[in-house]
Amino acid sequence: MRLKDKVALITGGANGIGRETARLFVLEGAFVAIADYDETAGVEVLLELQAAALVEQAIFVKVDVSDAISVEQMVSSVVEQFGTLDILINNAGITRDSMLSKMTLEQWHQVIDVNLNGVFYCTKFAAPHMVQKGKGKIINTSSIVGVNGNIGQTNYAATKAGVIGMTKTWAKELGFKGVTVNAVAPGYIETGMVAKVPEKVLQAMIEKVPLRRLGRPQDIAKAYLYLASDDADYVNGTVLEVDGGLVI
Ligand code: NAD
Repeated sequence: MRLKDKVALITGGANGIGRETARLFVLEGAFVAIADYDETAGVEVLLELQAAALVEQAIFVKVDVSDAISVEQMVSSVVEQFGTLDILINNAGITRDSMLSKMTLEQWHQVIDVNLNGVFYCTKFAAPHMVQKGKGKIINTSSIVGVNGNIGQTNYAATKAGVIGMTKTWAKELGFKGVTVNAVAPGYIETGMVAKVPEKVLQAMIEKVPLRRLGRPQDIAKAYLYLASDDADYVNGTVLEVDGGLVI
């Protein structure tokens, strides 16, 4: 019960890492807003929680994080329904991979809009509620690609490096107001995001991981949990790499 009665907003909470995080946070006693533009999957998560008699702890909010108005409405709706906001997990993200020579402007802008602007909008509208209380935890999702770069991922690497810059800036701007801001940088995690990778490429990826396996969504959910819990009260502006020691 490390998050007992805390209110957590998880973007991209309907699938993959976010979905696992929603489940874990509810089990740890939090009230969770699952925010996503995938309404079908979001409702499925609620049904799962219902089956475990935990549905009173969760709501689904439809949002497009790349749209500032939609994000503002999401934050208002969560605060209205749960009365407060303690934790923001900026987890929604997409890839649109291509080599630089083939990357379209559309691919570039789509990824910037969701992964970079989305994190900015969510934090911009959520942080004041935490500052007002003098306490809060914001956790952003970078990637090992944001640290090291990766072939075919100019757009993605730019956003995930940008997330690190925003994390360290907000840690300085909000820290003295009682709000910590940290990031998790996952390696290769077994979700829909890597499901499209051909088997041969996947094997080559696994060989670069000293632990010789892909990460599981739970591995990242547990890192989010640590940073969202009181155990991390003195951790601010850090980037926690959860990648099995991956070398790229
Ligand atoms: P996923 O595709 O399984 O889940 C992403 C979720 O974000 C989906 O539910 C999707 O509907 C939602 N989403 C996408 N665009 C949205 C938008 N505009 N508005 C609202 N919701 C939106 O992916 P995942 O692997 O669980 O990724 C979660 C986070 O982890 C992302 O930020 C991703 O970049 C990061 N990450 C993943 C990996 C990996 O290997 N899977 C590695 C490093 C970082």
